[in-house]
Amino acid sequence: MTESLLQRQLESPESAVQRFREYLASRPKPLRFTEAQRQMIHFIFSRHNHFDAEQLCAELDRANLNISRATVYRTLNKLVNAGLLRRVQLGNRVAYEHDYGYPQHEHLVCDQCGRVIEFEAPQLEAVYEGVCRQYGFQPSRHNLVVRGTCGDCLRAHSAKCRLDLILAVPTPAG
Ligand SMILES: [Zn+2]
Ligand SMILES: [Zn+2]
Repeated sequence: MTESLLQRQLESPESAVQRFREYLASRPKPLRFTEAQRQMIHFIFSRHNHFDAEQLCAELDRANLNISRATVYRTLNKLVNAGLLRRVQLGNRVAYEHDYGYPQHEHLVCDQCGRVIEFEAPQLEAVYEGVCRQYGFQPSRHNLVVRGTCGDCLRAHSAKCRLDLILAVPTPAG
């Protein structure tokens, strides 16, 4: 599940396709663009979320797109190499998300329900910059993940605690 706080217009699937074709053509040995790749790019770039390869396979199946698992895995690698997708470590899983035309952001990951919340915090940029300068380090990108419990899970938990408390109160003997 993804909550995107970045209400940015996504790049259109067609422009993602265009960029991918340019990438394939630019290889030392140009690679063929296939119908399965086009379907995958349209599927992935028509919404923003964080997904892993197995989830994507299941969703493509549900959408009646007949794309083999091997093709899905191979194409995901190519999309990363083409700069269209990036891999992010979210807690204990690795997920893919849009890179092309999507701003740098950080993540909150709920350990209870797996929800991923995106946020932008310009204040962090100054901190990263200062730390990198201190170590003479050239940053290329960053990915801050804050793990914990989301608001919904906290509320569900406190509601359950209240219920437990009510049930635990002995009823007066009649
Ligand atoms: Zn949660
Ligand atoms: Zn994200």
